[in-house]
Order: sequence, then structure tokens, then C-alpha cells
Amino acid sequence: MAIDGPAGAGKSTIARRLAERLGFTYIDTGAMYRAVALWGLERQVDFGDMHRMEQLAAAAEIELAPGRILLNGTDVTDAIRRPEVSSGASKVAVIPGVRRAMVAKQRALGERTSVVMEGRDIGTVVFPKADVKIYLDAAPEERVRRRALEMRGKGQEVAESALAAEMGERDRRDSTRPDAPLSQALDAIYLDSTGLAIEDVEEAVLKLVRSRITNGRDFS
Ligand code: C5P
Repeated sequence: MAIDGPAGAGKSTIARRLAERLGFTYIDTGAMYRAVALWGLERQVDFGDMHRMEQLAAAAEIELAPGRILLNGTDVTDAIRRPEVSSGASKVAVIPGVRRAMVAKQRALGERTSVVMEGRDIGTVVFPKADVKIYLDAAPEERVRRRALEMRGKGQEVAESALAAEMGERDRRDSTRPDAPLSQALDAIYLDSTGLAIEDVEEAVLKLVRSRITNGRDFS
């Protein structure tokens, strides 16, 4: 199952809850791009050095344990959420070689087991034959508000105007890159979560899953 959409649309929350309900594995592909960006920052690699970034992406050992992300054996769960890593991730995600390495890892993960995978290109590139594809969206102001709430919940200070600028810039970069830009797959279902409670979005998606996957399993 593929969930794509812009930053702050609610993808992670929904994908995590659905995976739990369905007994699937939750895979946050954004965390993988973030891990590569973090490694690049730590090594002081210029993100313009496509060749070096591609090498790092191919060599990165990224483990997605429940609720934790490990990069080369080190827990980077909190480090990858820093603002410079968010914007760095969308810079390294422009590089075709980095994307190739990430897509290969994502396909390997998805072939092993049933997954709810969220990102920007899951329904279009990574798993174009996914059983269910959702494009989750929300109004830009609401997406900024949600992300600010999430960050404050973790004790981080947030200036909403700076956050809005960072998210706007990231969305623009993600939607306009030539390789696998953020876009709705033709057969994806568009869901606007603006003003909806998370439970309502979850129910709407579950309804879709039930109607799409008819192999006799009980998805309730
Ligand atoms: O989802 P998240 O905001 O954590 O993703 C961080 C960045 O990683 C995105 O802004 C995007 O540039 C990149 N990304 C991507 N393709 C994906 C997932 C994330 O390009 N499938």
C-alpha cells in the first residue's frame, strides 16, 4: 500500500496507524533520504557533489526498526528530524543516483512482506502496482500548523513563519525535480485531510482498503 503527498499532510501518522491495524510493516521512506542527508552533513559533503552523495547513499546501512531509525548501526531517530536535515533531504533527493539507491532498498523491503510505505514517489515509481494508492493532501497552513504542533510536542522551539518558508521551499523542490517528482499517480485516490480528525482519515482509508483488497482477509 502506497501513501504519497507533501510534508505535513499526515502521511506518517496515517501510515503508522494503518500498518498497525492491518498487521503490515510501516516504512517511512523520507527517513531514508533524511539518513543519507545526515551522513552527508556529518561528512561535510557538498550536496552538489552528486557522485559522492550517490556513493554514500549506496553504502548507507539504513535500518527501520519499529519507532527507531539506525544509520550504520547508530540510532539517528532524533537527529534526522533537525531542520537542516529536512531541507538537506530534499536536496539529496534530487540526485538520480541517490534515488536509485533508495528505490532499490525500498523495493527489497516491500518484496519481503506486506507494507504500508509512505513518501513522495511510492505509487508512481517504487511500487507502481501497489494494491492501494493514496495521495494525501492538506491545505498549506494546516500542514504547517500540524508540523509545528508535532515539533512543540517534542519540546522543540518553532517559529511558524520560518517553518512555513522551509516547508514551502521543500515542497517546491520535491514537486519540480525532474526525477520522480512528487505527484499523484493516475490511479491514486486523492484525500484532503484538511479539517479532518486523524480517526476520520484512517477510517476513510480503511474503507478504501477494504473495497480494493478482496482476497478474503479481514481488514477490520
Ligand atoms: O517525508 P519526509 O518529509 O520525512 O521526507 C524528507 C524529504 O525526503 C522530502 O522532502 C523529499 O525531498 C524526500 N523524499 C523523497 N521521496 C520519498 C520520500 C522522501 O524524495 N519517497
